[in-house]
Amino acid sequence: MVPLLSAVEPMPHLFHELRIEPEEARSILRPQRDERYGFGFALSPYRGCGHGCRYCYVREYPNALHGAEEWGGWSAPKMNAPELLWQQRHRLHNQSVFLASATDPYQPLEREFRLTRGCLEVLLKCPTTRVLLHTRSPLVIQDLDLLREFGARLSVGFSIPTDDDTVRQIVEPKAPPIPSRWAAVERLSASGIQVGISATPLMAMVDPRAFARRARLSGANSAWVGGLRLLKNDPFYQVLARHGWLHVLDKAYQAEVREALRAAMPPVVRHGKKMPRGCGAAVGYRPMAAQTFLQPALFEGL
Ligand code: SF4
Repeated sequence: MVPLLSAVEPMPHLFHELRIEPEEARSILRPQRDERYGFGFALSPYRGCGHGCRYCYVREYPNALHGAEEWGGWSAPKMNAPELLWQQRHRLHNQSVFLASATDPYQPLEREFRLTRGCLEVLLKCPTTRVLLHTRSPLVIQDLDLLREFGARLSVGFSIPTDDDTVRQIVEPKAPPIPSRWAAVERLSASGIQVGISATPLMAMVDPRAFARRARLSGANSAWVGGLRLLKNDPFYQVLARHGWLHVLDKAYQAEVREALRAAMPPVVRHGKKMPRGCGAAVGYRPMAAQTFLQPALFEGL
């Protein structure tokens, strides 16, 4: 059962300065008609995102503009997301579903609202549907029991764009610390869940080769690198400049990290599909049972 808004009140520290605006969505499945992306539908149980990454280009999308409120300062849980999905489940036969575009399915509110979990419970009842979760949050572990039930038809992409948590504190100040993400990857892998490391958008690293070794030791079975997408006159450029991190825009730096991952990770399985903008090039994929997912465009519309 979806908790009422008052249920979040005992944990105000988790939702510090986050404006919560529950809403009833009119639709929940966004078709992805370009088959090269490797999934048929994107599913977002929330609008807005409490992680508020400073480079996130969703912040400039028309539906993400929220009056004077900053991106990362508000979140709109779609309270009827599981019910809507249940009503739409006939569309999911033999389809792949990506959670979530334009938000993180495991942002802080999910600890209480459990809308992503509710959607996963519906997807579990769709035996021919494949699921790709993408997150920055170890909160995904709260659904470990459920994720295991999917078996080979689910995989998790974990965003770890830097090996340095002091970098993370500047570029993703509200997102979970890097060590907690590695720990979550290890828990998922140890539980038999397929996990890929997404160094996207690639940020400054202390030691790319050590990062690549860490990725391999985590049990992840794939990794990929993606470049940063800057908006026009993006203030994030100044953040990079101020900290001496403009090299993250350099293709040679991206290639260096990609090569380190290529050397460290399990053998590449090439799929020959289009790599969508904003996600970078895959450096290694292993078959997901009979199915290989393409890392999708994360933020193509709300
Ligand atoms: S990059 Fe992802 S996690 Fe970060 S603010 Fe944007 S949608 Fe949220």
